[in-house]
Amino acid sequence: MSHIMSHIELLKKHELKATPQRLCILNTLDSCGHATLEDIQKIISIKFPTLSLSTIYRNLNDMIQKEIVSEVKLVNKKDYFEIAKDNHVHLICQKCGKIEDFEIKTDNLSKKIEELTGDKVLSNTLSFDVICKDCLSAK
Ligand SMILES: [Zn+2]
Ligand SMILES: [Zn+2]
Repeated sequence: MSHIMSHIELLKKHELKATPQRLCILNTLDSCGHATLEDIQKIISIKFPTLSLSTIYRNLNDMIQKEIVSEVKLVNKKDYFEIAKDNHVHLICQKCGKIEDFEIKTDNLSKKIEELTGDKVLSNTLSFDVICKDCLSAK
């Protein structure tokens, strides 16, 4: 199945219209993995030069509400967006800034924290600072 087709189905499944703007945002997130609002606008403006940041944000937000897209909150970094996927942590290269996903179940950790503190964990975005293998081998 092509990406375009699966994105149309993804939107339909969540009762959102598959507008060219939304498809373009999903496509951008798909190819970048993680992107900021500005990143998305830069790429989208090639196809839709008049689309404003607020329109892009509104579309993103619609998809966040439906849990198609998730917001990645990284400490000391701008907010990134990604297509919602399974539990994972982020590996952030301190040299090139690349953000990689590493799939691991963090549910148990959240449960443990709740048990030990009595707090309610709302989200469990974990990130690790790394030097990625490409930067390591570029020495
Ligand atoms: Zn790197
Ligand atoms: Zn991610």
